[in-house]
Amino acid sequence: MTLTLDALLRRAAERLLHASSPSPRLDAEALWMHVSGRDRTWLYTWGDRTLGEAPCERFLLARFDALIAARVQGLPVAYLTGEREFWGLRLATSRETLIPRPDTETLVEAALERADAPAGRFLDMGTGTGAVALAFASERPDWQVHGVDVRPEAVALARRNAASLELNNADFIHSDWFAALVDNPAPAFELIVANPPYIAESDPHLARGDVRFEPRSALVAGDDGRADLRYLIDHAGAFLAAGGWLALEHGHTQATDVRGMLERAGYTQVASVCDLGGHERVSLGQRPV
Ligand code: GLN
Repeated sequence: MTLTLDALLRRAAERLLHASSPSPRLDAEALWMHVSGRDRTWLYTWGDRTLGEAPCERFLLARFDALIAARVQGLPVAYLTGEREFWGLRLATSRETLIPRPDTETLVEAALERADAPAGRFLDMGTGTGAVALAFASERPDWQVHGVDVRPEAVALARRNAASLELNNADFIHSDWFAALVDNPAPAFELIVANPPYIAESDPHLARGDVRFEPRSALVAGDDGRADLRYLIDHAGAFLAAGGWLALEHGHTQATDVRGMLERAGYTQVASVCDLGGHERVSLGQRPV
């Protein structure tokens, strides 16, 4: 039986559609690119090529089939391929960390808009893969970029990502929020950002899609998802330079709450920024000069 690449991808996409993937064709393409080492242009150029005649290709087909079966079970594509693109950077992913999402690029944009000084110090709290810190580092090579994470596996992954992207202005340390920074001689950051856990424990969203496979500690926070946002707002001030900014990603229903917390903690210029879906996704405030 002959099978073309197009037919293979079509069949895989149909299986994924039945398994409720929100992006069946793209998933199938990403997984084939992963096993075959080809890029998307190659896929689109050689769609009518017959597969499975060479012995090595049969091996690739078997691997592809196993990946599609795993995706049918719901496993996120980013965990199956071990990578995800964020801010145009190719990042290694692992099950120890949240998968970087396009929404979080809003946080990077908001930070960059407040980073017009040629140099400064940037801190990303709960960095995970290092996505936000590395995106910022790639745009501001003269800033010193730091990321912390409570999971040693995340710190190791973020360091690996920095090394493979050759972003030498970014470093990562193991810390439970600000704990490891307290002993250092009062570092002052011009920008502190975070994409903390902010989903409520009871949120039905946790039972659907990729989040089922991501670490709960990166997703869920107490007090209806507000506990870590509040913690960061209450403690970041001590680490911010005068006039420095705190920018936080949060859930699309939390903006009013987060702005209130920022104002009560004494931040000025408090505002929220919308993501591409039109939701208030990031709120920020400035430490008074
Ligand atoms: N934005 C993610 C989601 O809703 C959650 C990220 C987070 O909790 N920080 O799936």
